[in-house]
Amino acid sequence: MAERGAHLTGTTFIKPSIFEIVAHESFASTVEPAFKKLLSFLASFNLERYGHLLRWADEGYLIFNVILQRYYLKKYSASFSETFYGLKRIAVTDSKLKSKLSKEQEKLSLILIVLFPYLKNKLLDLSQRYKLEELDGCAPETKWQKLYRKFVVKGTTMSFMVYEFMVLYSYVLYVSGKSVYQSPLLRLLFITLTYAEPQLVDSISDLLKKIRNNSFGVSDGLHVFQRVATTSLEFGAFFLQFLSWWTQEHYHMNLITLPAPPPPAIPRIAERYKGLCPICCKPLRVHTVLSVSGYAFCYQCILPAIRKSGKCPVTNYPAKEDDLIRLYLD
Ligand SMILES: [Zn+2]
Repeated sequence: MAERGAHLTGTTFIKPSIFEIVAHESFASTVEPAFKKLLSFLASFNLERYGHLLRWADEGYLIFNVILQRYYLKKYSASFSETFYGLKRIAVTDSKLKSKLSKEQEKLSLILIVLFPYLKNKLLDLSQRYKLEELDGCAPETKWQKLYRKFVVKGTTMSFMVYEFMVLYSYVLYVSGKSVYQSPLLRLLFITLTYAEPQLVDSISDLLKKIRNNSFGVSDGLHVFQRVATTSLEFGAFFLQFLSWWTQEHYHMNLITLPAPPPPAIPRIAERYKGLCPICCKPLRVHTVLSVSGYAFCYQCILPAIRKSGKCPVTNYPAKEDDLIRLYLD
């Protein structure tokens, strides 16, 4: 089943190193957390009003990713992260390399680049939720529903294990020269990666000359705008990657040496709910605090409220079941 890279003809093919392949894949996986970080930073200016939008962060990223990847596939015949590492996609047809992807390959590339991580995340979230509900003892009782949940949880774990193994296997084949495909998804589409040719772009002095000669047209303006937008996006992505490395490196900074900030003032609404559950307005049963807002509720009141709305009923701050903390006061 393995094809020998040496037999491939048709266009110049220089194999990118495995380090570049792994680097571009890990870079691709940092774009989504960066997008979500930026979104939560923007929402933090008015959490009461925009906090609930964070529930749709996955879908927001999906739309952003479609636009971003479509642009890069059309312009550079590569995904955003591949372009960043100077790579491009070429087609493998009947053991021959073609420098251009077919229309179908381009469409399927976009679908796989965008949908695969989205569905993977959704499936992992679902299986995590089912696992938590099983632990909480609030999983459904009927036999079929139980069987279905078990199938989702076990199926997700198994299929990701198989996929990881396939990724590793394709790396081994690629490094040993037995295959030209760098990943199982590229093999599926008969596409391989090679180095992109350097892009010919007008230098600043050329542009200034054009302006002086009055030959600076609308297309030149669009070109400049595109270059500024993509360069700032690439630079921003690089900067975010650097920041995530920096925060990881300095996470274990000694917090004790920092001065303790003063505690926040108690809002008037919190005084009203003193000793009472803000949902049922009765004295608290099974004290449970919501860590994102600091309000205490009855466990029986807050759990369905969080599941239904995904936010704190008092402050509207976005919240998940994991944010609930049981208090042992008695
Ligand atoms: Zn209550």
